[in-house]
Amino acid sequence: MLDSATVVEKAEDSATRVHDAIIIGAGIAGLYQLHRLRQLGMQVLVLETGTDVGGTWYWNRYPGARFDSESYTYGYSFDGKLLEEWNWSEHFAAQPETLRYINHVADRFDLRKDIRFNSRVRAAAYDDARREWTVTLDDGSTHACRFLITAMGPLSADTLPRIAGVESFKGQSFHTYRWPHHPVDFAGKRVAVIGTGATGVQVIQTIAPLVGQLTVFQRTPNWCTPLHNRAITEEEQRKIKAGYPAMFELLRQTPGCYIHNTDPRGTFEVTEEEREAFWEMLYAEPGFSIWMANFRDVMTELKASALFSEFVARKIRQRVKDPKVADMLIPKNHGFGTRRVPQETFYYEAYNLPHVKLVSVLETPIERVTEKGIKTSKAEYEFDIIIYATGFDGVTGAFDRVDFRGTNGNSLKEYWADGPKTFLGLMCVGFPNLLTIVGPHNASTRCNIPRCIEQNVDWITALMRHARDHNITRIEPTPEAEADWTKHVEEVAEGLLYAQVDSWLTGINSNIEGKNVRRILQYQGGAPAYRERCDAIAAAGYKGMVLS
Ligand SMILES: Cc1cc2nc3c(=O)[nH]c(=O)nc-3n(C[C@H](O)[C@H](O)[C@H](O)COP(=O)(O)OP(=O)(O)OC[C@H]3O[C@@H](n4cnc5c(N)ncnc54)[C@H](O)[C@@H]3O)c2cc1C
Repeated sequence: MLDSATVVEKAEDSATRVHDAIIIGAGIAGLYQLHRLRQLGMQVLVLETGTDVGGTWYWNRYPGARFDSESYTYGYSFDGKLLEEWNWSEHFAAQPETLRYINHVADRFDLRKDIRFNSRVRAAAYDDARREWTVTLDDGSTHACRFLITAMGPLSADTLPRIAGVESFKGQSFHTYRWPHHPVDFAGKRVAVIGTGATGVQVIQTIAPLVGQLTVFQRTPNWCTPLHNRAITEEEQRKIKAGYPAMFELLRQTPGCYIHNTDPRGTFEVTEEEREAFWEMLYAEPGFSIWMANFRDVMTELKASALFSEFVARKIRQRVKDPKVADMLIPKNHGFGTRRVPQETFYYEAYNLPHVKLVSVLETPIERVTEKGIKTSKAEYEFDIIIYATGFDGVTGAFDRVDFRGTNGNSLKEYWADGPKTFLGLMCVGFPNLLTIVGPHNASTRCNIPRCIEQNVDWITALMRHARDHNITRIEPTPEAEADWTKHVEEVAEGLLYAQVDSWLTGINSNIEGKNVRRILQYQGGAPAYRERCDAIAAAGYKGMVLS
């Protein structure tokens, strides 16, 4: 721990010096970027809103928060010793374990000394004459740097519902992202959960057996499939460790860097019996194999999507006793996999418990939150606890919450107002020396994210090395390169079923003004194609970029 005098001294020092780089965010992206830039000998400062490292896993402490990536595929791959010394306890680890892991990494590589916590960046302005960014924090302090690297996370801009009276509730209320650091007592409590996305599903299935009464307010049901989590045995632990090199090689080859790869067959190229048997097998398998290793056309062809969706609907009907409730839980406005697939354990069975009630806010909209609970168009409910599982302003939300100003005082938020314009999802015109890990148009938001983060960070690190070795102090893509990449991203997404559906993946968030028009936020060509493109650009002397 630093004493307070050292902290003040460090803060003053930081305010006067021009850092080689500032990184915004101390999640897995920011930490790895810090480690790699330090290895180059760069002087780096990380600014983080939270009071400690971990990002997603620091904030999301809600009951039931856990991976849907296999734990061992999610951890960092860059250090053999780290891989060897860390034992994941479950195939899909829960949040406390992941946070312990990230803390272990921060300690192991002594990362905290360059991180300033409690430091939310509210603005960042570029000065072209000095070739520097000046970053302003909430407390008004400023910090200057040559290169500004965002590692703010695709899911870090939490959103509350736009419902009147949210502030008036006298009981306890929590957004799942801002979950308290102390335990919440659910025993005997009347609890409301608003939202049934991936987070809502994890919360509902976990607290249902603990509470006195649970009322779930659902707008859009999602296609949820079983996680099939279990402990890792000693024998499996040995195999996982021995198999790391081969596993990471496999993850480099699959489109989303998961251990699951698309089945090359089409849905209608097999007999009905073969199809049923295959889908039954996928339903019994752990993790995202049902999403990622399904027939090749389930995510792209309406007929295949509809047939598989009907298979999952059948499962829901089998698991939920009340046919009316089962029907409410079956999505009607999108096919399986076109929105993020929540993975569940006991989710559908939770609705068989006598004290769990499902309310459709499409049928009976919430009119307001009251002092005592929630008033819908039909009834007034009293609660002790309201949980907002209302998610995030995904991908671009964290950017919109910082006032980025480029070469002529131009605003990034305005520049991206009609949809992002980027080069490789890593930089954009008019904002020199700004690099965006897991930014929009990047492959990483459709990815087992750490794998794509490592690719982004390694690429940026090589660029920084090149800049250092060639005395380069200004980096900006050309308008042509940016336009080409943006067009390519849009073309690749054309016709894909997910792009025709409202969700955070397409930039829709009814709780945010103006986020009501679908936009292409991700590169859908797959991580291997993305990596190849990035590598080719670097090999061609950073073609499409002006370095000076
Ligand atoms: C509940 C949940 C479960 C998930 N499970 C998986 C999974 O199983 N597999 C998977 O691949 N992905 C998963 N994700 C996605 C997850 O976000 C990524 O895996 C990964 O953690 C992203 O890391 P990051 O460092 O890019 O961003 P984050 O972990 O989000 O970290 C960003 C950090 O930046 C900080 N920050 C943001 N804006 C500012 C600012 N203006 N000033 C200062 N600091 C700022 C935030 O406080 C945060 O600490 C999950 C997400 C959630 C919410």
